[in-house]
Amino acid sequence: MADPLTIGTVSVMPGEVQRGGILIGGDMYDRQRQIPIIVYRGVEDGPILWLNGATHGDEPEGPFSIFKAIQQLDPQQLRGTVVAVPVMNVQAFTAGTRGDPLDTFSYDMNRLYPGKPEGYPTERVAHAHWQAMKDQCDLQIAIHSGGEHSYLAHMIFASDNPPSLELAAAMGPNWTLVFRSGTGGGNPSSQIGALGKAGVTVELGGNCRTLTRDFHQVADDLAAGYLNVMRHYNMIDGAAQYAPAWRMGYQIALLAPATGMYVGNPDLPFETEIEAGTLIGQIYDLYGDVIAEIRAPQAGVIFGLRARPSVTEGQWCCFFGVVEDTVDNLIPR
Ligand SMILES: [Zn+2]
Repeated sequence: MADPLTIGTVSVMPGEVQRGGILIGGDMYDRQRQIPIIVYRGVEDGPILWLNGATHGDEPEGPFSIFKAIQQLDPQQLRGTVVAVPVMNVQAFTAGTRGDPLDTFSYDMNRLYPGKPEGYPTERVAHAHWQAMKDQCDLQIAIHSGGEHSYLAHMIFASDNPPSLELAAAMGPNWTLVFRSGTGGGNPSSQIGALGKAGVTVELGGNCRTLTRDFHQVADDLAAGYLNVMRHYNMIDGAAQYAPAWRMGYQIALLAPATGMYVGNPDLPFETEIEAGTLIGQIYDLYGDVIAEIRAPQAGVIFGLRARPSVTEGQWCCFFGVVEDTVDNLIPR
């Protein structure tokens, strides 16, 4: 007889699905607050995969893609365990903002892992999530997007160890940009990487693509990636698919050189190499004159763009990637 697997308030036996949460303190209604979790435990042993959505409350692609992925899971056909965390930062998601608006001292939950048990509110939430996850996680996917100000195309930031790079490659053919992001930083992927396990942060979508079919397409694309990961690690049946090669490098933040209205170049492709000097966008003043331009600082790829035209000097306009290497060996053969 197997022992129950306990995560937060959930206790789950092989072949079961259970819902519950990770407790994070009380609320004004005298109720326990919790991070909702759904745990699918397979009938056979295998890796424990965490799907972590909405660290940032303005990024609904995580929850929607998790809902779509878990609808396709059957614990009777699963090897290993999937821990689905659709919304890590419930306070921020409730407000539809990046962080918890009531917590100005530790606003960005993706910068303060492993959290603090006696810290600011969001530090406590991060601490509770980290404590629940750290010893019961082999593979961790944190799901992000451009949120309310930007759109991000397919991009993976992988912790800098071989298990994380393999996990990135296991996302499948749509994910050819894989940048190393170090280990031990303040986000959950980086902390999992520091334990020698696999942690990646995937980016896709933004509030400019949450209408009707568009939102479904983004979420289906992400969900297909998680299922490909499960096939790669033999958690579910079927053959995983891979990109033929992966482009690795680093990002440069292209910030607004002036205040005004940002308008992107209509012919700009995402995820495709462009030449140095290519026009990325222009900034208009409120008389209609172009007062600044953003151009590619060197050859590279655009993987994200500002989607909110109003811009103040110094705000993010373009997520620009410099490709240093193209490799085909992220999957151990
Ligand atoms: Zn984010």
